[in-house]
Amino acid sequence: MIGSLPPRYRISIDPVRCMECGRCIENCSYGVFSRDGDRIQVNSRNCTACHRCIACCPRDAISLEEHPCDYRSHPLWTREAREAIYNQARTGRIILAGMGNALDYPVIFDRLVLDACQVTNPSLDPLREPIELTTHLGKRPAKLDLRRREGGDVELRTRLTPNLRIETPVMIGHMSYGAISLNAQLAMARAAKETGTYMGTGEGGLHAALHPYQDRMIVQVASGRFGVNIDYLERGAAIEIKIGQGAKPGIGGHLPGEKVCADISRTRMIPEGSDAISPAPHHDIYSIEDLAQLVRGLKEATEWKKPVFVKIAAVHNVAAVAAGIARSPADAVVVDGFRGGTGAAPTVFRDHVGIPIEAAVASVDKKLRDQGIRNEISVIASGGIRGSADVAKAIALGADAVYIGTAALAAMGCRVCGNCYRGLCPWGIATQQPDLVARLNPDEASIQVANLIRAWTLELAELLGAAGINSIESLRGNRDRLRGYMLDESLMEVLDVRAVGA
Ligand code: SF4
Ligand code: SF4
Repeated sequence: MIGSLPPRYRISIDPVRCMECGRCIENCSYGVFSRDGDRIQVNSRNCTACHRCIACCPRDAISLEEHPCDYRSHPLWTREAREAIYNQARTGRIILAGMGNALDYPVIFDRLVLDACQVTNPSLDPLREPIELTTHLGKRPAKLDLRRREGGDVELRTRLTPNLRIETPVMIGHMSYGAISLNAQLAMARAAKETGTYMGTGEGGLHAALHPYQDRMIVQVASGRFGVNIDYLERGAAIEIKIGQGAKPGIGGHLPGEKVCADISRTRMIPEGSDAISPAPHHDIYSIEDLAQLVRGLKEATEWKKPVFVKIAAVHNVAAVAAGIARSPADAVVVDGFRGGTGAAPTVFRDHVGIPIEAAVASVDKKLRDQGIRNEISVIASGGIRGSADVAKAIALGADAVYIGTAALAAMGCRVCGNCYRGLCPWGIATQQPDLVARLNPDEASIQVANLIRAWTLELAELLGAAGINSIESLRGNRDRLRGYMLDESLMEVLDVRAVGA
C-alpha cells in the first residue's frame, strides 16, 4: 500500500472575512470549493495553485500555503523524486506536466550583468535621442551590387530575399489553437498587430477568426502538417518549420481526441474527436539537405515571397545544426531553450533534456560568425524570456530577436500553475471548455499583452541608451557589454563573456 500523499497546497478561508458570496465556487474549475449550508467547504487536494479564487475573492479571505505537510527532508530524495515514484508505481505511466523546465538549475541570465556608460563614454537619453529598435529578420547580402544607369539613376542588382520587419525585438512564439483557446490566440494576435510585431500560429492551423491579423502571423508547418495547405501558407507573413521544441526535444506532440472539437477539427483539418499526433521526426527530413528541400518547397509554393524560419530545440550540437540551416535557403533559425513552455510534455523530457537558451544562442552565434555566415540567417531566441533584461542579454549573446510564450500568457492572467495539459485552465487560456474560454476577454487581454510588449520595449530603449548604444543592431552579439557574475570559467568560455571586474 502506498496510501495518500501529503497535499501539495492547503487552502484556508478566514471565516471572519468570508461573506459566503460563492465566487470561489464558481471560479474554481478544479472543484476545490463547495457549499455546505451557509459554509464554504474546501478540498485542498484538488488545488493547483492557479490563484483564480484568490484573484476573485472580494474579501481577501483566501490564503494558500505550499507544502503544508512535507516529507522528511533529504537532499537526494526530494519530494518530487519520491512522488514521481509513488505515482508511477500506481499507474505504470509516463508523467506529464505543463509549462517549462521546473528543476532548480541556475538561471544563466541572472548571472550575467549588462553594462552602462560612466564619464568616459556618454550615455544616450531615449527621450531626446532616437534609439532604433526596429529589426529586420532574414538574410542580409554580404555586399550590394549597384550599377549606375544611363541618366545617373542607381540600380540595385543584388536580389534581396524578403525580410520581416519588427518594430520591437520581442515577438510572440507559437502556441497552437487546441493547446490554448481561440480567445487567447485572438488577444495575442491583436497585441502583435498593435505593437508592430509578429505572433506564431503554433502547429494547429489558422482559425478564420485570425484572418484579419494574418499579416502579423507566422504560420507553422510541423511534423503532423495540421491545417497546412496553400491557402494557409499564403496567409502567413512568414512560414516556420518546427523541427523541435525546447520543452520536449526529440519527441512529437499529442493533442488528445477529447480536445479536438468541431472548430479545432476544421482548423487542423483532422476528424473531430481524433487524437492529433505529431510524429517525433518529419518523415521527409533525415538530413540538412532534406530540410533545405522543404524550405525550398515552401518558398516555391509561395513564390519566394515569404521568409521561412526553422525552429529547433536547443540540444548539445545546436550550433552545428544551426550552421547547416544557415546554409539552406532558410531566413531565420529559432532556437528554443530547455525552459521553453509547453501545454503538455513528459516531465522527464521537460526537466532533463536540452540545454539553456543562453548557452545555445551564444554557441550558435559564435559558430555562424566563425564560419562567416552570420548574415545568412537571423537567430531568434526563445525559452524562458521573463523580462526586458533577458531580451537585452539574449541579444547581446547573439540573438536578433526573441519569442515570448509564458510571459504573454502571464500577461493574460496565467499563474504558471503548470496544469495546462488538463484542459481546465480557470483563466480561459489553456482550455477549450466554452464556459472557461468565455472568461478570457480578448479585447482586455490584448491590451494587457500589448502593454507588456510596449513596457519591455521602453525598458530596452533605456538599457541601450544607458550603454550608449543607439540601435538594437549594435547590441547583437556585443558580448563586450555583458559580464559574467558567479559563472564558472568553462561556461564563460561557451558564452564568450568575461567576468565582472575584467
Ligand atoms: S470568494 Fe471569498 S468571500 Fe466569497 S465565498 Fe469564497 S472565500 Fe468567501
Ligand atoms: S495557462 Fe492556465 S493551466 Fe496553464 S499554467 Fe497558466 S494558469 Fe495554469
